[in-house]
Amino acid sequence: MSNPKRAVLWSDAFLDEEQRSLAESARDFARREIAPAAARIDETHEFPREIVRQMGQMGYLGMMVDPEWNGSGLGAMAYSAVLEEIAVECASTAVIMSVNNSLACHPIQAFGNDEQKERWLKPLATGEKLGCYCLSEPGSGSDAAAMKTRAVRRGNGWVLNGVKNFITSGNEAEVAVVFAIVDPSKGHRGIGAFVVERERPGYSVGKLEKKLGINGSSTAQIVLENVEVPGENLLGGEFDGFKVAMNTLDGGRIGIAGQAVGIARAALEEATAYSLVREAFGRPIAELGAIQVHLADMATKTDAARLLMRQAAALKDAGAPFSRQAAQAKLFAAETCMEVATRGIQVLGGYGYTKDYAMERHFRDAKITEIYEGTSEIQRIVIARAVAKELG
Ligand SMILES: Cc1cc2nc3c(=O)[nH]c(=O)nc-3n(C[C@H](O)[C@H](O)[C@H](O)COP(=O)(O)OP(=O)(O)OC[C@H]3O[C@@H](n4cnc5c(N)ncnc54)[C@H](O)[C@@H]3O)c2cc1C
Repeated sequence: MSNPKRAVLWSDAFLDEEQRSLAESARDFARREIAPAAARIDETHEFPREIVRQMGQMGYLGMMVDPEWNGSGLGAMAYSAVLEEIAVECASTAVIMSVNNSLACHPIQAFGNDEQKERWLKPLATGEKLGCYCLSEPGSGSDAAAMKTRAVRRGNGWVLNGVKNFITSGNEAEVAVVFAIVDPSKGHRGIGAFVVERERPGYSVGKLEKKLGINGSSTAQIVLENVEVPGENLLGGEFDGFKVAMNTLDGGRIGIAGQAVGIARAALEEATAYSLVREAFGRPIAELGAIQVHLADMATKTDAARLLMRQAAALKDAGAPFSRQAAQAKLFAAETCMEVATRGIQVLGGYGYTKDYAMERHFRDAKITEIYEGTSEIQRIVIARAVAKELG
């Protein structure tokens, strides 16, 4: 049995006309350009270079960057809606887009000066260059402040030494936002954020991870050996690094929610289509109560995840605090997409376990959304602390 034709189940009640039209054109683009390549990208682990180039032309790589710096000048609502559409077809492509927008462009736009924006934000926003975000290390992930990478002053500049781990797009990125300890006596208040260009002597790409999913997105070690950067490469003040890192992740979590909602929607749509054509005991399995329970729960949770994402995006776009809501959206969307993909396999039965269907890819891709940009355990800590602060 071949993959049945998929219909779209999507609510757009909270998007304005411009946002809806952007999401619809992203869906057309994703179906036309990404869908035919997604299984191959997963299997060969190839970086989707041509698709990323096209996304740059369409303005998808600098969606929230001001037009003054070559961006699309849109908000988190439009960004997350477009990202969902990309993720429906390919979670690897979605995370490449998300990292460039949320983790590379954002910190430079929010904390950089005009000269830094001219040099790095402009080419990142158009996709002429690709960015990455280097916070995690072999010995520190959730506990980011336990990093070992050092930045030592030399003249007007800095010398960086250390190893960054699990860096998305690390194999391709030309511009890296790197966090390093400037003053070890100050704990998390002693961290600086630096823009480091790939061509700097001493900067190299180390181990490339072999992963469970999102295979088209590279996950690399970035090795910094006596990398000299001038003072102009410091983002914000010399001790602003932790603030830059956390502020960046707040927005990034809306993007990962978008990726997770997209994966969940793909699993839901494909499971529904399959259930309408697969027969058991003389009728489509869609008519079996047990399958209906799966589909009803999958649809309801996917919509609920999207609504949490829309809430966080709306607050961000309104300039209101959104850190808790972004953590809630990321947490719920990640756990939803893992559950929906798991149940999607169940609906397809044995076929769901094979590579003849995309469902097993969604299942493998889903898992990472519970881990990066803060694990689900860390999101719960962020949420609980925020609730206690707001209500205490
Ligand atoms: C594919 C991929 C792409 C990534 N991309 C990037 C990137 O681009 N840039 C980057 O900087 N990093 C990136 N990461 C790193 C990612 O953010 C970390 O893996 C993640 O933050 C978890 O850190 P860790 O792996 O060191 O796990 P640990 O922090 O060692 O956690 C191990 C376990 O302990 C739990 N835990 C830790 N602390 C607590 C606590 N206080 N309370 C309760 N439970 C806790 C965790 O939730 C987890 O279950 C990526 C990782 C992967 C796998």
